Amino acid sequence: MEEKVVNQQEEETRIQGDVIIVGGGLAGLSAAATLAKKGKKVVVLERATLGGRAVTINMKGFAFNFGAHAIYGRDSSYLRRLEKELDIQIDWRDFNPDKAKYGIGEGLTDVPVNVKGLFKTKLLKASDKVKFTYEILKTMTKVEKGDPHISISKWMEDKEVNEEVREMMLTLASSNFFTRQSEQIPSDVFFKYYSRLFTTQKPVAYIGGGWQALIQELERVILENDGMILQKTKAESVLTEDARITGVQTSKGVVMGEEFVFCIPPTDLVKVFEETKITDSLKQYASYSPSYVYVYDIGLKNRVDVPYSYIYDKQSKIFITDISYYDETCTPPGGQLLQAIAYLNEEDLKNKDVLDEYHAKIEALYDQHFSGWREELVIPRVSKRAIAQQLKWVMTQQALPVFLPDYRNLFFAGDWCEGQGQLSELSFSSAYQASQHILQKHK
Ligand SMILES: Cc1cc2nc3c(=O)[nH]c(=O)nc-3n(C[C@H](O)[C@H](O)[C@H](O)COP(=O)(O)OP(=O)(O)OC[C@H]3O[C@@H](n4cnc5c(N)ncnc54)[C@H](O)[C@@H]3O)c2cc1C
Repeated sequence: MEEKVVNQQEEETRIQGDVIIVGGGLAGLSAAATLAKKGKKVVVLERATLGGRAVTINMKGFAFNFGAHAIYGRDSSYLRRLEKELDIQIDWRDFNPDKAKYGIGEGLTDVPVNVKGLFKTKLLKASDKVKFTYEILKTMTKVEKGDPHISISKWMEDKEVNEEVREMMLTLASSNFFTRQSEQIPSDVFFKYYSRLFTTQKPVAYIGGGWQALIQELERVILENDGMILQKTKAESVLTEDARITGVQTSKGVVMGEEFVFCIPPTDLVKVFEETKITDSLKQYASYSPSYVYVYDIGLKNRVDVPYSYIYDKQSKIFITDISYYDETCTPPGGQLLQAIAYLNEEDLKNKDVLDEYHAKIEALYDQHFSGWREELVIPRVSKRAIAQQLKWVMTQQALPVFLPDYRNLFFAGDWCEGQGQLSELSFSSAYQASQHILQKHK
């Protein structure tokens, strides 16, 4: 397998494929695997190494995943669909809702990841639970779909939702949408998400072996189906003819193809399409700001055993996941890997003092909930400005469509595109849609 992935500098000027996929993150790899499995000759161009933001970093025997690699509503997810259609192995590790807690001041209470959790949580009074469940039930029966032009906050105001239910909905949304600005989420996005999450049997699941296990599987399918993967190959510009793309100029030569799927973020897209008219349609998306998070993981020598595996601190909007509780392969024997994530505001990014405050707050939460961790610390891993999702769910931002009406052989995928769910689910679902459009065209 190795030999086929190495950079084939000499040959690249002659490379031709049915479908050229630019970007080797989850979106690019899943689109490539789907198309290769259906007999298309795919060529993947990745400027760095495979995985993109879905990276696993191995240090001192710990496998730190960028993000908790949590898959939401796995039974109805696109990743589940890929698992079946591509025949890839995914070692699902289901989340235990009984071990998920909200930190509310000094105490802890259950996180309502499903209707059962809703009735156990102390975040709501009994009467409010009924009201909230009623709202959720309405969305499940599709009576309440929300409105793309109305934020969830405005929706609640219009419906005169009481303060406690409002608080609860916004807290839930904050922890699920990776945002401090949950009141700005469009109401239709909010309801679509919860109607799926509350009906699923598998609200959250992790992937055993982390992102790297999934990346290897997708890579395997591509290579087994005669696909080509060119790493360290940057797409620099495109060649066009009328309203068609004909090739991609890369750092190592031209790659020609019939269809093109660009799975690179909007800021990179505008650079690649700079010389073409397409760039005007893309600029708007490149101007949006992503959802940033502060990540602070710790690898511990011995487990600090506590009765919970996930805590979301309501006030600071920071959550901690005991990744090793779900995936023991990410630590040396007996060890523990905890991951803390804080949602950032745009302004926080430039302010070192504010970022230092997040660091201190995370340590304080580790102290509060995993007392003794300092003595067990083997290795920390910090990422101060990570992009959890390129698309931020606020009323002023929109997802990039999977294709533009004027360009017949150009498609887009990634977590900045129209699709289902959040985070990687947006990448998988948009990649799947782009692949299906191409397969339909060439039936
Ligand atoms: C801290 C953190 C926590 C997260 N937690 C979760 C989680 O729990 N669950 C979940 O589902 N998701 C999670 N995510 C989100 C998930 O990682 C992303 O949604 C997903 O990896 C995005 O994949 P993508 O392919 O859409 O984009 P990317 O990963 O950004 O891939 C784009 C690729 O394009 C390449 N590229 C860019 N420009 C060029 C060019 N000109 N030529 C060639 N290649 C180029 C890049 O190198 C990159 O590999 C998390 C992310 C972070 C950062």
